[in-house]
Amino acid sequence: MTVFLLSCLCRVARAAAVLLSDPCFQLHSIQHLLGESELLSSFRAAPPSAEHKHFSLHTYTDYISPEEQQKVERMLSFLTNESKEAAASAAPTSEEDLCPICYAHPISAVFKPCSHKSCKACINQHLMNNKECFFCKATITGVDDYSKPPAS
Ligand SMILES: [Zn+2]
Ligand SMILES: [Zn+2]
Repeated sequence: MTVFLLSCLCRVARAAAVLLSDPCFQLHSIQHLLGESELLSSFRAAPPSAEHKHFSLHTYTDYISPEEQQKVERMLSFLTNESKEAAASAAPTSEEDLCPICYAHPISAVFKPCSHKSCKACINQHLMNNKECFFCKATITGVDDYSKPPAS
C-alpha cells in the first residue's frame, strides 16, 4: 500500500510539470487524484459533501508522513495559483468583442433575425434611417441585448 501510494505521489509530482505546460491542463484531474482537502474545498467554494470523498490523502495518514502530505498540498496550491493566473492573463477584451462597425465600444447588441452584432450606439443610430443589417442586409426586426458568454 505504502509503495503504491508513494509511487503514485511521485508520478503526480512529475506529471505536474508536464501538465502545467499543457494548454489543456485540467486542475480537476489533479484534484481528483489528490482527493479532498481544506485547500480544495476553499478553492471549490462549495463545501464538499460526504459523497464527494472518493479518495482522500487524509484517510491514509497512517501511510503517508505529514511532510509528504504537505509537499503534495503545496504543489496543489501552486498549481491552483498558476491556473488562476493563466485564466486572469487571458485578455478579457479581444478584438472579437469590439463592435465591428466603430471598433470603439464592446459588442452589446444582437440583431434579429440574423444574429449579427454591433454596439448599441451603432445600431441605434443606424436604425434611425435604415432597417437593414450592416452585414447581410436582412431587415432587422428587433435588437436584443448581447452579453458575452462567460469564458470557460
Ligand atoms: Zn459600434
Ligand atoms: Zn445580418
